[in-house]
Amino acid sequence: MPASASPPSRDRTAIAPDAAAPAGRPPWAAAGARLGAGLAAALRAARDALLPPHCLTCEAEVAVQGTLCAACFRGLGFITAPLCARCGVPFAHAGQADAQGLCPGCAADPPPFAAARAALRYDAGAKRLLLPFKHGDRTDLAAPLAAQMARAGAALLARADLVAPVPAHWRRRLARRYDQAALLARAVARLGGRPCVPDLLRRTRATPPLGERGAAERAALLAGAFALRRGGAARVAGRRVLLVDDVLTSGATAGACARVLLAAGAAAVDVLAAARVPDPRLAAGAAP
Ligand SMILES: [Zn+2]
Ligand SMILES: [Zn+2]
Repeated sequence: MPASASPPSRDRTAIAPDAAAPAGRPPWAAAGARLGAGLAAALRAARDALLPPHCLTCEAEVAVQGTLCAACFRGLGFITAPLCARCGVPFAHAGQADAQGLCPGCAADPPPFAAARAALRYDAGAKRLLLPFKHGDRTDLAAPLAAQMARAGAALLARADLVAPVPAHWRRRLARRYDQAALLARAVARLGGRPCVPDLLRRTRATPPLGERGAAERAALLAGAFALRRGGAARVAGRRVLLVDDVLTSGATAGACARVLLAAGAAAVDVLAAARVPDPRLAAGAAP
């Protein structure tokens, strides 16, 4: 192995920070936000061709288009070890894991998926990327988010036979004009050189936000909410599926999708998300 002059650095693919300096945006960029995703993207591209590149989430100038300024990068909480071997929830310290490396939740009631990982803690910094991506037509954020997901879930991506998104209900997809989990699934699959099946699963009905609900209530709301597309069983039989979503909260939604895939004969299911909500009981540093 050749000696390298520079020390190995953390992979900051596409979200790397850069020198920050204030930069103004032309007034027509704001108008673009109110237009369709396609036109907004075209306006952004036109502006980017004329102005110095700016941070993905603020007005600061950066050297390379598609990166974050140093301040926004510092605001991101990258999930790193120690974390639960199963669901990937970050630990405040390694002592929170049991002998198998599991969090108390996974030890008591293991989820149907083999492993879940996420790139970022879902906090104020992550929201600056994810909320515009979900609700603001910023489909250009799929690529930098997927790059971080591929880093956090490298092992999961390497063992996946196919990649599929957690499906949105068609009514929500229609309202947003795009499906953010499908965009991430496609980008992650491309980075890993894996086939993506964006319509593998479908949502049979809309489900209310699961947020603060208890486990039993979540299970009742999700019962029968997902199904395989016609012909989907042939795609998943004996295969290892990597399910992709934008934000992992309780894992109940991903778990419901994993159950459908396993019932159809999938060999195993892993889950990869852009961000996950940390468990406040673990973040506080308590031992299990
Ligand atoms: Zn910034
Ligand atoms: Zn866990």
